[in-house]
Amino acid sequence: MKNLQAVRGMNDILPADSALWQYFEATVGKVLAGYGYQQIRLPIVEPTELFKRSIGEVTDIVEKEMYTFADRNGDSLTLRPEGTAGCVRAMLEHGLLGGGVSHKVWYTGPMFRHERPQKGRYRQFHQVGVETFNLGGPDIDAELIILSWRLWRMLGLDEAVTLELNSLGSSADRARYRDDLVAYLRERFEQLDEDSQRRLDSNPLRVLDSKNPDTQALLADAPKLADYLNDEARAHFEGLRALLDAAGIPYVINPRLVRGLDYYGLTVFEWVTDRLGAQGTVCAGGRYDGLVEQLGGKPAPAVGFAMGIERLLLLIETLGKVPAELSRQVDVYLVTLGTETQQPAIRLAEQLRDALPGIRLVVHCGGGSFKSQFKKADKSGALYALILGEEEAAAGQVGFKPLRGDGEQLTLAWDAVPEQLRKVLQ
Ligand code: ATP
Ligand code: MG
Repeated sequence: MKNLQAVRGMNDILPADSALWQYFEATVGKVLAGYGYQQIRLPIVEPTELFKRSIGEVTDIVEKEMYTFADRNGDSLTLRPEGTAGCVRAMLEHGLLGGGVSHKVWYTGPMFRHERPQKGRYRQFHQVGVETFNLGGPDIDAELIILSWRLWRMLGLDEAVTLELNSLGSSADRARYRDDLVAYLRERFEQLDEDSQRRLDSNPLRVLDSKNPDTQALLADAPKLADYLNDEARAHFEGLRALLDAAGIPYVINPRLVRGLDYYGLTVFEWVTDRLGAQGTVCAGGRYDGLVEQLGGKPAPAVGFAMGIERLLLLIETLGKVPAELSRQVDVYLVTLGTETQQPAIRLAEQLRDALPGIRLVVHCGGGSFKSQFKKADKSGALYALILGEEEAAAGQVGFKPLRGDGEQLTLAWDAVPEQLRKVLQ
């Protein structure tokens, strides 16, 4: 019989790796709480129509990357390829956007795209997404960037990431620009790579971020989107830049930054790194003031971003920024000798967990010799062993042995153990 395997591009996160995920998630949660953002939890499956209407029919995601299926009623459903669409749907469905009330929310979870799996690119991957609603000024654009910058600093990644910034202007600006860009490129059609030739009809702005060097060379003299921005768009962009300057956040303007989803306008940004090879964008976002209306709501400005957790964890590992304490998941390992000690061992362990909330205490299970239990205690990473033999149990005592360094072994009364552990574990 063939062994069953996970779906290609969909990864298991094994016990040895989960500590890093938890550390990352806890750090993100702390940063976002520090700016007053609330978590929203959304379904993984949405009606297919939601993504078609929001992301855009002629984007890579909707054209060829979605996991779409008919459920048993015949409804077309899709595993979410991103979180913004579902977030907007939920805000609208629950009437949260009325009356101009502003909201700042975040979510995390798996996303699904049928892409070619490679380092930093998977078919099931995870994002943290942050979205804000009913805030139209550059101040909130700046806040989103500032809070992500704080996160990079907390994770030790700030030296390795660069902020790229652009303005896409209004949709009227982009329409005028699109016409001129298409005219320019059409005259040079034969020199374009195949993908760009195809995009020229369907989504010409995407030609700007073609990876093909010949196409890039051709674009050097193409019309520049920056020259098409209206006064308001220009002021918004300048406002954002001034705030970033005031916050001391370095950035580069990338006039070719367009993003792959149709709903963006005005501000777009990406945090990129050169340490991960081709998959260098770790966080990307922008303003999508038109999307709420596009999905049936009253117009409401919105801006947000999403970061790719796998890429950020790869970066943390590549830079050697995994905190040392993550390698140790156990504080104390309780070794028991003799069958008569099983019941007292459980009583002692529960007493200790009551007295020291948060203690990571492993009670040895499965019997075995003193030696084999100590091997396990050592392998667990525990700093201390407690040793409960039949004699100690009868006397209400327990052995206390440091497993690292050369501290002395003690015999303690049960009542004295919490005090001792508090002292040595701090
Ligand atoms: P890329 O250009 O790398 O395909 P994207 O523009 O499609 O990225 P977004 O939709 O903006 O990506 O998603 C935000 C972030 O999610 C990306 O910057 C990246 O870090 C991460 N991400 C996107 N697709 C994948 C994937 N298939 N596997 C892992 N991470 C991903
Ligand atoms: Mg992509």
